[in-house]
Amino acid sequence: MKQKMILLMGGQGVGKGTHARALVERDGYGYIETGAILRALPAESKLAKIIARGELVPDADLFDVIADAISKTSGDIIVDGFPRTIGQAQWIVKNYADKFDIRVIYLNVPQDIMLARIQKRIREGGGRADDADDAIVRRRLDNFFKTTMPAIEWLRTADGVRFSDVDVCDEDFNVNFMRVSNAIA
Ligand code: AMP
Repeated sequence: MKQKMILLMGGQGVGKGTHARALVERDGYGYIETGAILRALPAESKLAKIIARGELVPDADLFDVIADAISKTSGDIIVDGFPRTIGQAQWIVKNYADKFDIRVIYLNVPQDIMLARIQKRIREGGGRADDADDAIVRRRLDNFFKTTMPAIEWLRTADGVRFSDVDVCDEDFNVNFMRVSNAIA
């Protein structure tokens, strides 16, 4: 049987990281958190500057990083924060669909709830540097609708991919987590 590769997709503040960590803890998946890998780069690097501006890192700079992270895992994996462009979506399907059973879990939340959740994250502190500035947060949200949404739509019907659209708008995380768990089962 193929290994499972779960691609957790969704906009800012929808709970990709929280869901991923809960699944990793419960089921022991390998975990690839793209944003955390990228944010760990030295502050003076070209990519760190792009991230600080709230822009997406170019696809070509990312493929080696993701391929390397995947090669270091074994068993079923969760990928959080990748793909975010059509090019990335096509790359992952082209290169990994033969080895992995690719499952996309799209955490679906309307824009107003996304904004409210990010603002709460900022108010409660512990927010990230790229969450601190309203204009940057909006740019990341814009990226999601302009660039990542088309990738989600492409994956919805792509060969070799099982796609689930999961409503995670409930106030109660456990309700949302149950829906995500059911989609993966
Ligand atoms: P995240 O923690 O997932 O919100 O990612 C933080 C930042 O890392 C994003 O705002 C982008 O600048 C960059 N990043 C993360 N994942 C990707 C990706 N798949 N493609 C391009 N840039 C990314």
